[in-house]
Amino acid sequence: MQKSIERIAGDSDGVSYEFPVLRFAGSDKAAPSAYLQAALHAGELPGVVAIDALMPALNKAQAEGRVKGNITIVPWANPIGRAQYHFGEHQGRFHLGTRTNFNRGFPLLAAPDAKLLPDTTFGGADQRLKSRLVQLSLGHDIVLDLHCDDEGLAYLYIHTSLWPAMADCAAAMGVDAVVLWGEDTDGTFEGASIMPYQNVPAEVVKFDRRVATTVEYRGILDVDGALAKADAEGLYRLLVGRGVISDNALTAPGPFKGVVAPLENIDMMPAPRAGAVLYDVKPGDRVVRGDRLATIVHAPGETDGRAEVFAPQDGIILTRRSRRIIRVGEDLLKLVGDSKSADARSGTLED
Ligand SMILES: [Zn+2]
Repeated sequence: MQKSIERIAGDSDGVSYEFPVLRFAGSDKAAPSAYLQAALHAGELPGVVAIDALMPALNKAQAEGRVKGNITIVPWANPIGRAQYHFGEHQGRFHLGTRTNFNRGFPLLAAPDAKLLPDTTFGGADQRLKSRLVQLSLGHDIVLDLHCDDEGLAYLYIHTSLWPAMADCAAAMGVDAVVLWGEDTDGTFEGASIMPYQNVPAEVVKFDRRVATTVEYRGILDVDGALAKADAEGLYRLLVGRGVISDNALTAPGPFKGVVAPLENIDMMPAPRAGAVLYDVKPGDRVVRGDRLATIVHAPGETDGRAEVFAPQDGIILTRRSRRIIRVGEDLLKLVGDSKSADARSGTLED
């Protein structure tokens, strides 16, 4: 394993950022290559510890000559967000300098060619970081961006062009659900990993071996040794299943049995009042239309001091908030409905 350090210039003298890149050189030039990154939202750590748990298996595979394709790993993808503390609380989702979500504003290239990347000399440190992450990932057949939700199931965002071709990956990783999306105008990292390949010839894209996904490893508090080990095993199964690593001892997973739904089916459930949230449901629960999802206590002890929120359709609870204080209009949870949501806000990539 080769380790190198990437440096990103800050926006004033005396400030710069660093992050490590770990590389395994594959022995077979024809084998698929893989890129894994974690903690782009810098406080989302289930993927960081999954990578840590994966490394012994990768080192063993390399020692035994079983690493076929190149593997590039960025365990801490966001040194800028990692350093952001505001009044003692970590802030890893938005860049404090620009208020931009760290998983938005990635360059969406017309072709998978690093020469097309914009000049970010004067673009700000977060843009330089995003440009560098795209550059590091370009050319890999498999691109995995490891995130987590607030509280949630393990699920994947996958572009419709890669489904059901990626069903084996979802099965290998052992996730509970797959959310399919079709359009990215905001420049998520996943979008930046997909869009360059949309208009190039099929023989260049090699759709049969292409993998790109935003992985949501449950909730922000699910940083846990046993889960990390299980997630690492899932990542390893994917790498073996797709031919990046060879391992004859591993049996192929069965078909994917989790929930598959288009983004349009997700109901976000905004809070009708500000207050304290009492949930009736947790991630994984199956609900039917009319079931109570949560009660907001907005005027404690008073008549009509509670507001109830009900399921607009049948479905499964994908995520909910980890904090119980809420403002009007903030989202209570994600319900993956059996049908299209009546809420126009569904249909956007929500990470
Ligand atoms: Zn995230």
